[in-house]
Amino acid sequence: MNDAGAQARRSELAARLERVRHRIAAAASAADREAPQLIVVTKFFPAADVRHLSALGIRSVGENRDQEAAAKAAETSDLDLEWHFIGQLQKNKAKSVVRYAAAVHSVDRASLVEALARAVEREQVRRREAGEPPRAALTALVQVDLEAPDSRAGGGSGDVGAGRGGAAPADVSAIAAAIAAAPGLELGGVMAVAPLGGDPDEAFGRLQTIARNLQEQYPDATMISAGMSQDLESAVAHGATHLRIGSDVLGARPAVR
Ligand SMILES: *Cc1c(COP(=O)(O)O)cnc(C)c1O
Repeated sequence: MNDAGAQARRSELAARLERVRHRIAAAASAADREAPQLIVVTKFFPAADVRHLSALGIRSVGENRDQEAAAKAAETSDLDLEWHFIGQLQKNKAKSVVRYAAAVHSVDRASLVEALARAVEREQVRRREAGEPPRAALTALVQVDLEAPDSRAGGGSGDVGAGRGGAAPADVSAIAAAIAAAPGLELGGVMAVAPLGGDPDEAFGRLQTIARNLQEQYPDATMISAGMSQDLESAVAHGATHLRIGSDVLGARPAVR
């Protein structure tokens, strides 16, 4: 990208970011709470955009595919960024994800907890042998599936539609216990995506109840990762502590990849 193009893109991102920050501030003030943390989801967009966002004051970025995330994190390793992994995760990708991610929002089964804990342990050994400082504990959130079973079968469209993953609400407490017991992992809280076509207020209300129940047992598990471009207001109203915003900051993505 030439300088003029880069300048134009930075101004565009600055304007979009400003609008999103306004919406968040308005929603927080309506709910009489502090503004949640903004995680900008940079999937589909190049490392150059991550660089612009960093210059605009963004510290937290989210990605949903390991290959893309790993490459971007490597390209921007000179920046002070915190990477949040928010997509469905295969166990064999755990080793790669723990090299760059501070948090994984999408833990939805006990076998993945084990894989992540093993991966963190191996990563610490690798860093020690390479003379690098150790990484911090990996923050792990339990992804909750808020879709009714019958609304899942047809799937959705687009990249966050079909197969969003997540644990059934009844399984949350067992997965949380596995995270809390795993060395190298820290239980952050819960994450969810509102059901397609459903009422986000109702869904995020349920998530908030699940989060409260979890906090009775794990007082430090305070994170509620909820809210995307379309439903951030409703997520803020229902206690979200972390918003994952992509398209309203970066622009439209292709619907299917
Ligand atoms: C892509 C994605 C987002 C961001 O969605 P937007 O509608 O672009 O804001 C949030 N959460 C998850 C899990 C995603 O995959």
